Amino acid sequence: MKITFLGTGANGGLPQVDCDCKYCRAALKKKNKQRLRSSLLVETKRSRILLDCGPDFRQQLSGVGLKIRDLDLIVITHFHFDHANGLIELSGGRPCKVPVLVSERVRRLWKRFPNQEIEYMVKSGFVKLVSEDNAKKCGVKLVDVPHDPGFPTVAVIVSDSSGKVWYSPDVSEITEKMIKEIAMIDVVVFDGTFLNENTYPASKFNHLTIEKSVDILKREVIYTHVNHSENVKEIENFLRAKRCLLARDGMMVTLK
Ligand SMILES: [Zn+2]
Ligand SMILES: [Zn+2]
Repeated sequence: MKITFLGTGANGGLPQVDCDCKYCRAALKKKNKQRLRSSLLVETKRSRILLDCGPDFRQQLSGVGLKIRDLDLIVITHFHFDHANGLIELSGGRPCKVPVLVSERVRRLWKRFPNQEIEYMVKSGFVKLVSEDNAKKCGVKLVDVPHDPGFPTVAVIVSDSSGKVWYSPDVSEITEKMIKEIAMIDVVVFDGTFLNENTYPASKFNHLTIEKSVDILKREVIYTHVNHSENVKEIENFLRAKRCLLARDGMMVTLK
């Protein structure tokens, strides 16, 4: 299995539009400091799966030389705009009925608050919503995780014979169930929005800090979804001592 980080930034990416902070200014000057919105491409022996489809989707897909029709499945962790707003791009070409997996909790919520863009895409044949049962053949499993109470959120597990990957870019707490699942995982990709509460009240924004999750998980973890406010050097130094890693756009990991 091969995983490619198509984006490792939080909701505003880096540089964030209309921000003058020193990290956004530095990223404007240096391309290698820039981060697109969080998204992971997972290529297993059988399938090519995109985890999250945010507003940078078009650029991310063409950046790795792929077309929409090359994807076997798109999975959406939750409907915050930085994880789902790229879905509208699927209506830009010919109707190709890309299978899109969202959790049952999200579907139930739609019945009460229909998402008009997605309704349109499904009705016009651009998107085919599939059930979790249906996605099993791609080796995909969803696990509910706490994040924003108004937006049901999942972690995605993708497995093949080479191993298992866990992807949860947005998490506010670590539950017993998550700990049990993560014990079976080879590569864990986790919420790295904030190092600690020094720059932002992370918990108020429904994110668990890196410092806290490192302490709870006590294992090798790759962090992603970094906010523009964070000192990347400081995070990298902190994580190095814990045998963990901060992802960068374009980074690849192969499981054999
Ligand atoms: Zn996010
Ligand atoms: Zn979120």
